[in-house]
Amino acid sequence: GVLARSLSSLAAQLKAHIGELTAERTQVAQLLTVGREFMADASHELRTPVMAIQGYSETLIEGGADSSTARQFLETIHRHACRLGRLVEDMLRLSSLEVRPSADAIFERVDVGGVASAVVDTLQARAEAQGVALRVDVEGRVEMSGDPSALEQVLENLVDNAIKYGRTGGTVAIRGHEDRDEVLVEVEDDGPGIDTHHLPRLFDRFYRVDPERSREKGGAGLGLAIAKQFVESMRGRIRVESELGKGAKFIMRFPRVP
Ligand code: ADP
Repeated sequence: GVLARSLSSLAAQLKAHIGELTAERTQVAQLLTVGREFMADASHELRTPVMAIQGYSETLIEGGADSSTARQFLETIHRHACRLGRLVEDMLRLSSLEVRPSADAIFERVDVGGVASAVVDTLQARAEAQGVALRVDVEGRVEMSGDPSALEQVLENLVDNAIKYGRTGGTVAIRGHEDRDEVLVEVEDDGPGIDTHHLPRLFDRFYRVDPERSREKGGAGLGLAIAKQFVESMRGRIRVESELGKGAKFIMRFPRVP
């Protein structure tokens, strides 16, 4: 009797342990798959500029180009080297965000209007070059809890995208207001927008709506993945609303200062 009972309780415990182990194994396998996919995508993105640099520099070394062609080749090499540089920067930023334990996240009082103005100062020249007007619309003093430099990077990224993918002669607005116990921060443009079927994957790493067009503009599709990581590191959420021909709006919600 006693023996049978303790045996069956032992069996139940073993079964529970095996269940936990299987679940952990599935999780590890999933993480490995994500990592492998990232490596595959990253290598693919790195390959194009590396091959271009190799090819053009080889031709130059062999001396097979006259001086005006040589100049063109050098410019092409430079362009690809810059793209490589941006890609490596983005990848480093993404991985440093991932290894940072959330306990290390900074939570301080952030003046949303102040950060928005700083972002406008940084991107004003780029906006003017594209004929885009930047507007800040923050009602009074709006304060959220988070990391000012993280918020600045996120806004810079979203506004930069809005300029890049927006419309010449268009407007990009940064808005901020309080909504009960949250702070809403939005970046909206009046450009061509994004077809709705892309929206569910827009924040995925390396996802681009139009790979050729956005590659020309220098993006590898990591910008929004980085923005999302930053937002989540501040316990915020980010989503996008867009329709073809109707502009794009990125909406973030953060905790208010308690
Ligand atoms: P990228 O490095 O290519 O800019 P992102 O992750 O920042 O990558 O953006 C992913 C894709 O989303 C871009 O390639 C672009 O097609 C689309 N996108 C982002 N912002 C906008 C916007 N404001 N309007 C239209 N399309 C956008």
